[in-house]
Amino acid sequence: MGTFKALRIDRTESGQTVAPVAFDEADLMPGDTLVRVTHSTVNYKDGLAITGRSPVVRRFPMIPGVDFAGIVEETSHPGLKAGDAVVLNGWGTGETHLGAYAERSRVKGEWLVPLPPTFTAADAMAIGTAGYTAMLAVMALEKAGVTPEHGAAIVTGAAGGVGSVAVALLSRLGWRVMASTGRPEEEGFLRDLGAAEIVARDELSKPGRPLGKERWAAGVDAVGSHTLANVIAQTRSNGAVAACGLAQGADLPATVMPFILRGVSLLGIDSVMASRERRIAAWDRLARDLDKDKLKALTTTIGFDAIVPTAHTILDGKVRGRVVVEIG
Ligand code: NDP
Repeated sequence: MGTFKALRIDRTESGQTVAPVAFDEADLMPGDTLVRVTHSTVNYKDGLAITGRSPVVRRFPMIPGVDFAGIVEETSHPGLKAGDAVVLNGWGTGETHLGAYAERSRVKGEWLVPLPPTFTAADAMAIGTAGYTAMLAVMALEKAGVTPEHGAAIVTGAAGGVGSVAVALLSRLGWRVMASTGRPEEEGFLRDLGAAEIVARDELSKPGRPLGKERWAAGVDAVGSHTLANVIAQTRSNGAVAACGLAQGADLPATVMPFILRGVSLLGIDSVMASRERRIAAWDRLARDLDKDKLKALTTTIGFDAIVPTAHTILDGKVRGRVVVEIG
């Protein structure tokens, strides 16, 4: 096809530049499968890459974008054929491998998951890495043996991408969901997704006691730092907390008290290098357990030209729910 539209990050002496370019297909990286990308999304990590605020990009030039949905154009992978609808989350795309904000992407076929028949490509990107991470977190809590009978579940960064999908999933699965947000104006949005109670961000984001009143049995944390420490400190005996993110900070100023006195478990969630089996299991669960109307309610759709401004908005903590990007 010659060239196609792509967003490209180049390194400069003073930092980096980001601009739309006509990208030459010959400059794509090696891979056994060429995909026509139709949809992508903007995750927090894409915000970090595009603004250069954290060293997410490990190779220049880079096409950012960690998620895409599209149609296989050419492949020599035995499990795929031209015309297959596929989804890709992570695996270093947009970081070490040329990513999703482009009309074409050449990747390893083993990175691709079949698009579940219940979802359109736009649905899959409304979920994206953030939503699939929320599902991995819920699955980790289930594996740890915590259930709605044990108490409530707290979700931090609740009005963001990981948070809003976690609220929708947990409430559908029978949990009493407590949603922590710094945006009181999003209370109605969060209650519509299934939150039973709103917790002000300030209650959790400041330094707290090593052990607090037991308020919830489970947690999905997108925020890190003091928030995660307080979530752990207020978890009931034998409860569990899934640590997904660092929107407040990458530090964890906690003590061992909740672990050794209450048997609380801290569960690490890594979506980027999760095995293909776990990905397929997570997408199967999303197809079953995510209410399509709620997914629609938490999604905004933008065009290619709005990717860069949205990258700034997401780092400012001002994106509500999830953003779908129409690529081509
Ligand atoms: P979003 O920006 O959509 O959500 C983050 C939310 O965190 C915001 O909406 C806001 O929620 C809250 N927040 C923002 N800044 C602060 C702050 N300073 N203090 C406390 N809360 C804050 O991002 P995503 O949902 O895409 O990602 C969330 C986190 O999860 C990121 O850190 C991201 O890197 C991480 N992540 C990790 C993955 C993994 O594999 N482990 C995969 C995907 C994401 P509110 O306004 O409701 O308070």
